Amino acid sequence: MKKRILIIGASGQIGTELTTYLRKKYGSHKVIASDIVEGDATMMKEGPFEILDAMDYDAVEDVVMRYEITDVYLMAAMLSATAEKFPMKAWNLNMNSLFNVLNLARDKKIEKIFWPSSIAVFGPTTPKKETPQRTTMEPSTVYGISKQTGERWCEYYHNRYGVDVRSIRYPGLISYTTMPGGGTTDYAVDIYYKALKHKKYVCFLNAETTLPMMFMPDAIEATVRIMEAPADSVKIRNAYNLAAFSFNPEEITASIKKHIPEFSISYEPDFRQAIADSWPQTIDDSEARKDWGWQHNYSLEEMTREMLENISKK
Ligand code: NAD
Repeated sequence: MKKRILIIGASGQIGTELTTYLRKKYGSHKVIASDIVEGDATMMKEGPFEILDAMDYDAVEDVVMRYEITDVYLMAAMLSATAEKFPMKAWNLNMNSLFNVLNLARDKKIEKIFWPSSIAVFGPTTPKKETPQRTTMEPSTVYGISKQTGERWCEYYHNRYGVDVRSIRYPGLISYTTMPGGGTTDYAVDIYYKALKHKKYVCFLNAETTLPMMFMPDAIEATVRIMEAPADSVKIRNAYNLAAFSFNPEEITASIKKHIPEFSISYEPDFRQAIADSWPQTIDDSEARKDWGWQHNYSLEEMTREMLENISKK
């Protein structure tokens, strides 16, 4: 099968692990990593890498044609907390990068697109518990507005031009390979580093802020699974709800204390509290489970064990 993959925004939190996973699966020379900054040593050593600005249509088209790309994973974006500081920059990056790859697919220069959405598409008027696939969506952040708009355009390009675009509303993602890039759930990564190093952590969200979360290997598994699913089983072409587990800072603290009993947390909520308060607490992802067989593997306890073990090794 002729498959050649381009990952745009490969040097970030998800892209780094996605690149490793896809290179193992399809062969290093078939997976081209790209970003505006170089990736880690493994990424640069193990396969092709291009410096590429997702907003530059001609440059993206050039890489696509040169490597005969079939599938694009667009991971470049400005995340929720950073986007609140630079609203217009976030809007331009998050939307223009998406239009560039949608237009390449419309013009039959690529075959398939993965573009990630987020639980940030939901807003304060959305039901917070077991948030359904289809519900009130009035996002209050620039990031959420860009993701919701992106979802509408993905569905439009699929219906109007037959573009094969697939998407997931990721929850907060937790990983130990690459640091997160300016989101509201970043505390749930930082807390493990601080627990090991200082035995204490000052959290920018309050103790009761429950949010949907997922360990990175499950997110990568979901990403590749939806991309490999037969086209007719991907029935939703805006983005699928996706869930593993939810917790608040107090609950993640309790799970860390099982390994580091002296660990303590204190709370100094900042502007990110309002963002978190606008998001759901738990997500109903039954359509992803039904349509393309999604299932998660990791619980909070299993993730905590792996996070502490792997960060200690660093
Ligand atoms: P990240 O910030 O860690 O990585 C984004 C990467 O994009 C960075 O390496 C950055 O250098 C690159 N980039 C920025 N501008 C670029 C440009 N103009 N051209 C090319 N590359 C550029 O983000 P991430 O956490 O890996 O997120 C990837 C995608 O997943 C984003 O769309 C994000 O909105 C979505 N998402 C992430 C999470 C999460 O918890 N990490 C949750 C929901 C959705």
